[in-house]
Amino acid sequence: MRLSRYLLPLMKESPADAQIVSHKLMLRAGLVRQTAAGIYAWLPLGLKVLRNIERIVREEQDRSGAVEILMPTMQSAELWRQSGRYDAYGPEMLRITDRHDREMLFGPTNEEMVTSLFRDAARSYRDLPRTLYHIQWKFRDEVRPRFGVMRGREFLMKDAYSFDMDEAGARHSYNRMFVAYLRTFARMGLRAIPMQADTGPIGGDLSHEFIVLAPTGESDVFYHANWDASAEPAEVDFDDAAALQGVVDGYTQDYAATDEKRDEAREAAAGNALRQSRGVEVGHIFYFGTKYSASMGLAVQGTDGTRVNPHMGSYGIGVSRLVGAIIEASHDDRGIIWPDAVAPYAVGLINMRVDDAGCTAAADDLYARLQAAGIETLYDDRDERGGAKFATMDLVGVPWQIVIGPKGIEKGVVELKRRATGEKVELSADDALARVR
Ligand code: ATP
Ligand code: MG
Ligand code: MG
Ligand code: MG
Repeated sequence: MRLSRYLLPLMKESPADAQIVSHKLMLRAGLVRQTAAGIYAWLPLGLKVLRNIERIVREEQDRSGAVEILMPTMQSAELWRQSGRYDAYGPEMLRITDRHDREMLFGPTNEEMVTSLFRDAARSYRDLPRTLYHIQWKFRDEVRPRFGVMRGREFLMKDAYSFDMDEAGARHSYNRMFVAYLRTFARMGLRAIPMQADTGPIGGDLSHEFIVLAPTGESDVFYHANWDASAEPAEVDFDDAAALQGVVDGYTQDYAATDEKRDEAREAAAGNALRQSRGVEVGHIFYFGTKYSASMGLAVQGTDGTRVNPHMGSYGIGVSRLVGAIIEASHDDRGIIWPDAVAPYAVGLINMRVDDAGCTAAADDLYARLQAAGIETLYDDRDERGGAKFATMDLVGVPWQIVIGPKGIEKGVVELKRRATGEKVELSADDALARVR
């Protein structure tokens, strides 16, 4: 992409209401713009990152055996009356009346809708187990939308829902998601710790919030120091229930809990290895038994002919929140440092002198070769000072920068810089191309 044809509205200063670094940087680097309180438009650079995160989430959901669908954002109040949640949900739900005076709502979550879809589609035990997911916008009328996309009112969520014949099956489905989440966040360069979370009236131990440690996070969390050295799970067969349980047991061995689920005995056992921090909830997985299947009349024929209410779980990831969480975890005082896997462009190509025919020919040529090699490149071909171009590339956080200037042309070299480390080397354009591949 040529910067001269792009939409990249940068800001020198961030607005005063942007309190945390990710919010400031997302505005300054032209990723998003707020259009109403807690509602954001995604500009080209921000959208590319959002799509990259979405792709990783989708790949890992698919790998774990989940099946993608797409449910609408608008839902009927009728559906929510069936579960009894329409009145219980409270003011976070945006309620809308259509021209026929029918009560509608902008979905804050989809348990009711997916339960009704499955109720129509599934007949017997042969149709189970199934896990369905979608990646769709949600609306929650948060009391205090803040921190940019981290707590928006309209936000993008991946939500999955599992249906099993019994609790043992539901645990297997839960474990699939548990491991899929570990892989998902690790691929984005994040360490998300699964923390014991509140299960509400269902009880049991099957609820985990995946928390990324950050001083600006809104959750208070407590964990064993061993988590500081945790690694992502090795390759695993998602269909092997016992093997998967082994992996989950390994990851739940060391203490980690949110505020509501603190355990004095385990904290005492951790002794001076107990750590306290703030964290950002990037995902949440939850088993809730037959809560919705029973209340909404979802039943299938069991192996012995009796009717069985499927055991369900739901599993959310804050896709748009992750953009902010990744920036919180990866930035410096010059700007964003994108992990390669989610970076909007792999390479930022800087032409130092657009008025110099030699420079421009060399930069155009390298740009064409990068494109031919399928390497996503943001090409700064604007008539600007070199200093401003460096500052822009550092701010937008592209992982590799290649600089082409008149002195280098004379020597037959370009400069290659790694954004994360600041390390610079001079090499031929051929070698630079090979390095960024
Ligand atoms: P929070 O505790 O931050 O309010 P939640 O527990 O209400 O989140 P869930 O119902 O568990 O949220 O939704 C699944 C995921 O959706 C969360 O783990 C989070 O990553 C994301 N999410 C929830 N609310 C928001 C929001 N207002 N803006 C952006 N992402 C959100
Ligand atoms: Mg909430
Ligand atoms: Mg929460
Ligand atoms: Mg939650």
